[in-house]
Amino acid sequence: HPRTVLITGCSSGIGLHLAVKLAQDPQQRYHVIATMRDLGKKEKLEAAAGEALGQTLTVAQLDVCSEDSMSACLSSIEERSLDVLVNNAGLGIVGPLESLNMADIRKVFETNFFGAVQLIKAVLPSMKQRRRGHIVVVSSVMGLQGVVFNDIYSASKFALEGFCESLAVQLLRFNIFVSLVEPGPVNTDFEAKLVAQVSKADFPGTDPDTLSYFLDVYLPASKDIFQTLGQSPEDIAQAIAQVIGSAQPSLRYQTNALYTPLTALKYADPSGDLSVHTFYRLLFRCQPLFRFSLCCLRCLSGNCLRPRVTPM
Ligand code: NAD
Repeated sequence: HPRTVLITGCSSGIGLHLAVKLAQDPQQRYHVIATMRDLGKKEKLEAAAGEALGQTLTVAQLDVCSEDSMSACLSSIEERSLDVLVNNAGLGIVGPLESLNMADIRKVFETNFFGAVQLIKAVLPSMKQRRRGHIVVVSSVMGLQGVVFNDIYSASKFALEGFCESLAVQLLRFNIFVSLVEPGPVNTDFEAKLVAQVSKADFPGTDPDTLSYFLDVYLPASKDIFQTLGQSPEDIAQAIAQVIGSAQPSLRYQTNALYTPLTALKYADPSGDLSVHTFYRLLFRCQPLFRFSLCCLRCLSGNCLRPRVTPM
């Protein structure tokens, strides 16, 4: 009997690729309910699903910020009990804190955090009753380690991490597993959407120094990091498929081995000094070309041999 998997945010990126991957599983282990906020954007998914469409993949509307949309979607699949829920829908937000407006900040939490909380809350009673289930949450390495100018996004993923870590203990009692998947940079529309947001922004209330650190230092470094460390959405879909296929899923999965030195810093030094100072050095002291070139682990240990931009 195939397991029913509901995935949020399937019109693009990781959600789309995961939905197709599971629906095309050679062993036909899954029936996928691929949901998206706007069904007007379903063509790309449908084209990618090919023959799986209507067989092992069903498309449905679900806006994670709307309780009505959520209950309509869940009641339409009630006869099919849900085995796996993948909370993938998410928004980014980047820039100096002073320049962001509170409505946009709240929207990120509404989508990334409260959206997942509400959906998980809604599916728990039936999973508990059946004493089985798997809740997968697409977090980020920024859910483990804050990154400069990503204060709000990172906080929304930290919120998910704390939520899942707490819930996992109780749910284990009911044979329900909770897994956080923590990708590093992934080359999807996600980054392009952020860059488009930034190019429209006029950064009210932001001083020139901060603005220059953001536009001239952070943004080029971020572009580099996507180019040098970025994974494809297929890579992440493959990693999540493995998590879902596992008999005893773990709580945390980082998908990018190249990024793990950066998330390890806080465990190496609980005071936080090591991570704060390392990120400071990476941003302000390395020459642009070498910035975030993680091949150079000396940089992480504070012994970077490469020429500095400015002594600080
Ligand atoms: P993406 O922008 O292609 O996908 C995000 C999807 O969420 C989009 O299809 C969007 O329409 C959907 N969405 C947004 N608000 C929604 C709502 N209210 N209801 C339903 N759907 C909504 O980008 P992606 O990279 O595929 O992102 C997927 C997840 O991966 C996100 O949670 C993101 O935070 C996480 N992630 C992305 C990266 C990255 O670098 N791209 C890195 C780590 C984690």
